[in-house]
Amino acid sequence: MCGVFGVWAPGEEVSKLTYFGLYSLQHRGQESAGIAVSNGRQILVYKDMGLVSQVFDETTLDSLQGHVAIGHSRYSTTGASTWQNAQPTFRPSSEGSIALGHNGNIVNTHELRDMVDRLPGPVDELDLHRGGAPVATNDTSLLTELLAHHPDCTIEERAVEVLPSVRGAFCLVWMDEDTLYAARDPQGIRPLVLGRLDRGWVVASEDAALATIGASVVREVEPGELIVINSDGLRSRRFAEPERKGCVFEYVYLARPDADIAGRGVHEARVEMGRQLAREFPVDADLVMPVPESGTPAATGYAEESGIPFGQGFVKNSYVGRTFIQPSQTLRQLGIRLKLNALEHMIRGKRIVVVDDSIVRGNTQRAQVRMLREAGALEVHVRISSPPVKWPCFYGIDFATRAELIANGLEVDEIASSIGADSLGYISLQGMVEATRQPMSSLCTACFTGTYPVELPDESLLGKHLLEVSLQSPTMGKALPVLNNP
Ligand code: SF4
Repeated sequence: MCGVFGVWAPGEEVSKLTYFGLYSLQHRGQESAGIAVSNGRQILVYKDMGLVSQVFDETTLDSLQGHVAIGHSRYSTTGASTWQNAQPTFRPSSEGSIALGHNGNIVNTHELRDMVDRLPGPVDELDLHRGGAPVATNDTSLLTELLAHHPDCTIEERAVEVLPSVRGAFCLVWMDEDTLYAARDPQGIRPLVLGRLDRGWVVASEDAALATIGASVVREVEPGELIVINSDGLRSRRFAEPERKGCVFEYVYLARPDADIAGRGVHEARVEMGRQLAREFPVDADLVMPVPESGTPAATGYAEESGIPFGQGFVKNSYVGRTFIQPSQTLRQLGIRLKLNALEHMIRGKRIVVVDDSIVRGNTQRAQVRMLREAGALEVHVRISSPPVKWPCFYGIDFATRAELIANGLEVDEIASSIGADSLGYISLQGMVEATRQPMSSLCTACFTGTYPVELPDESLLGKHLLEVSLQSPTMGKALPVLNNP
């Protein structure tokens, strides 16, 4: 996932705009947060582990003065959740420096690493900085290194040269001392929008971030498009032909409900998925309830279509977010109990339909069904507004390995008994896609179908810890040093 934000706006408090933009993108990544800002002479980067509100305070933001800024909230998919891997990344360039934030996941990291190893200057520099120094092990640092190396051309020309070699999901925002850049992969897997302020421009992962800071939406950044914004205005170039394959899971769960992706409101799509689910898997029951918050729109749709009353059966503690402590399996299970409590007076003696957006490992749903039974539910019918997740995502979601996915190997009735439900119904692929109002051909549905729109390399060249593993095996190439700017 990850949230990215960029603003070019002379005369505005760009670091605070970035802070509020990131704040509204917090749902896309909670492990670390950072802001880079430039005053035209130098870039300053401030980043740390934790939520946006934990990392920044008024004093820090006041110290980040300039006319151009980018921000990032991280959810790790390549590279461990460490300070070294927090973004924006920073690198000196041939004529200054650059800072970069990335949402997505690159699938040819090994090729980028080879390209970095072939760079003449930075290789020496890498050697100089190795020797026990902490290193960045994310795909983003490789990209930053490649873009920062432009001895004979501009950063813009370098981007047009490098980006066609990058495969996978990437929404990038980056900056040098004067200019804001944004680019989106040719498949447009993750969302990225362009917005307008009275005195500048904004790019953000979701349009909700634009609304938060009072910017108007101009349009999506197109798949395969590079945008350059500086005192000469905004320039747009294509670095690759678009082959649209937007992530369908953005509609199901990832994006904020108030987002609009490719012209379709996410909330409306989720409500429609719930209605479709009710048509596909009706059941006699007394109450339809969501797993808050992500299941709420689909539960509303299910209740509307079925005529069964809607109500809240779980209370969610909003102050227990996903913390920056790594969510191990044990913590995930504990997190369920921390986050949700059953409302016994709503549940006791009733036949319940509980609606959620997806099932990954099944542990969450097992704990919820148990909780509902302990609260006195007569029957528990689970309805899921996405099809069974059978394949891992390599484009920015760290679901699980294939072996950990409960739908890989178990049929629906077996999953129902594994989680302890009286019945289980998953929306059909067709039904989910129709609710997005996008043609099936322009969506990625790989985690449901196993058809990956961007070719994957051999399994041994994939994985969250690919670059950490390669650190222990020098023949795999070099790790990148972390450079702290002044
Ligand atoms: S594999 Fe699934 S989660 Fe990943 S980009 Fe495709 S649809 Fe989205």
